[in-house]
Amino acid sequence: MPSDVLLEQVQNEAIRCVNCGMCKAICPLFLASREDLYSARGIVFYAYLYSIGKREVLQKLLELVRMCIMCRCCEVRCPPRIKIVDKIVRPLRKLAYQKQ
Ligand code: SF4
Ligand code: SF4
Repeated sequence: MPSDVLLEQVQNEAIRCVNCGMCKAICPLFLASREDLYSARGIVFYAYLYSIGKREVLQKLLELVRMCIMCRCCEVRCPPRIKIVDKIVRPLRKLAYQKQ
């Protein structure tokens, strides 16, 4: 899949985040780090920024998606039911692979 299509898919999903933080407290990344950015919400936020052209967040974003263990705990808690693993984490990992 071309990278622009992947990014459009990411943007369409990430834009639905209402920033409620319901996913954060249960995300293993946050539980281990206690840093806001290291959480499902952080991934979704940075994914959105990257998808709208903020290329400077790429390095951190790829670090975050590589750390995600794809447990889907975030998806269970997410009120708008964002498909964080399949529509955000996996496409961004694929994008990272294409860029290598
Ligand atoms: S799937 Fe990833 S982002 Fe979601 S709770 Fe698990 S580690 Fe966190
Ligand atoms: S639970 Fe869903 S809507 Fe709320 S901050 Fe997390 S990703 Fe965004």
